[in-house]
Amino acid sequence: MRKLNVFFDVDNTLIMWNGKLRNHTRDVFEHLRDAGHTIYIWSGVGIRRWDMRRHELDEFVQDYFIKPLDDHHARLGPLGVTVKPDFVIDDHKTVVDAFGGYHISDVAKPDDRELLDVLEAIEAMAAEDFGDLETPILDEAVEVDGSA
Ligand SMILES: [Mg+2]
Repeated sequence: MRKLNVFFDVDNTLIMWNGKLRNHTRDVFEHLRDAGHTIYIWSGVGIRRWDMRRHELDEFVQDYFIKPLDDHHARLGPLGVTVKPDFVIDDHKTVVDAFGGYHISDVAKPDDRELLDVLEAIEAMAAEDFGDLETPILDEAVEVDGSA
């Protein structure tokens, strides 16, 4: 399975208007880490390490960046984003359109499950890319079986 650089936005993606963490954030971060993906946090308004610490999520986060708000690809370098985003989760569609990922609702209901859909989408992307690499491995396995 391909290991992905997953970039989460903060405001209205993970931390909602009332300061509360979106449902399932910790579960999803744990799943991503255990699957070997790397979690980055970025935000248009600054480095959000403190917010992640406050919600005891800092241990899951590899690094923090400032997110480009326009001309997204060109501004990665100038903003010091040294990692290529493979999958972004953002309530702003322009960011998702630029890098690919999941456009999340900026409103979370009390029973919100949208981050579980995000996890599913990330897992699907990781498995999809694995498909191309899988074929030769399977062929080899068949040969081994045949010669036994
Ligand atoms: Mg946002």
